[in-house]
Amino acid sequence: MKTFRLTEETMRRGSLILVNAGHPLMDTAAPKCLPAAPGTPDILLEARAASCLQQLIAFVGGRHEITAVSGYRTRREQQEIYDSSMAENGPDFTRMFVASPGCSEHETGLAIDLAKRAEHIDFIRPDFPDSGVCGDFRSAARRYGFVQRYAENKENLTGIACEPWHFRYVGYPHAVIMERLDLCLEEYLCYLRQFPWGGNPLQFTACSRSIEIYWASGMGEIGIPDQRLADVSGTNTGGHVITLWR
Ligand SMILES: [Zn+2]
Repeated sequence: MKTFRLTEETMRRGSLILVNAGHPLMDTAAPKCLPAAPGTPDILLEARAASCLQQLIAFVGGRHEITAVSGYRTRREQQEIYDSSMAENGPDFTRMFVASPGCSEHETGLAIDLAKRAEHIDFIRPDFPDSGVCGDFRSAARRYGFVQRYAENKENLTGIACEPWHFRYVGYPHAVIMERLDLCLEEYLCYLRQFPWGGNPLQFTACSRSIEIYWASGMGEIGIPDQRLADVSGTNTGGHVITLWR
């Protein structure tokens, strides 16, 4: 039996953490990062997210057409972007498209802004169309654990305007389930609370593998049989999500 310790610290880390205006990032340690995409060595993502993004870009043949615009940002960098957008674009635009420092997903290392390669790229609102290789990327993204984080019909829940260029790594199969059920991360984490650890899981089957997903609201130790592959992620909303593969 493997033992996982669920603590306040682990609750604030992992690929499913929610970071928005109501849930500031509490774990401010810099994540272990890698370059997000080929050709942009200075734009970083959390290591597992970077690896999945690189595989996804290779899968759609987007190496020469898709470029990373912004990935991991320190709190200080987010503050600078926020301040310069306030000065250049004013408060209405900035509140719509730029998260307050401490409340930006970019500070987690799990979010990436992408653009179709072009001579001029808008840093705050890059062009990432639905067609061509960008469209192929959009269709395949969920299988590599990425979702378009800010959709048009979810603005009242996310607090951020539609951003077709901002992708968030939540991991597989969560990205697939979120898209299938049309749930943004705020909704998905609420939805998972009906599958408590020790009760009936959310079941997901793909390629003859069965995956079980649970919500663990408490802290303390949990035991998982040795033969089960397990991923435990904090949520930054008071609980953990436990994903078990059979
Ligand atoms: Zn972004």
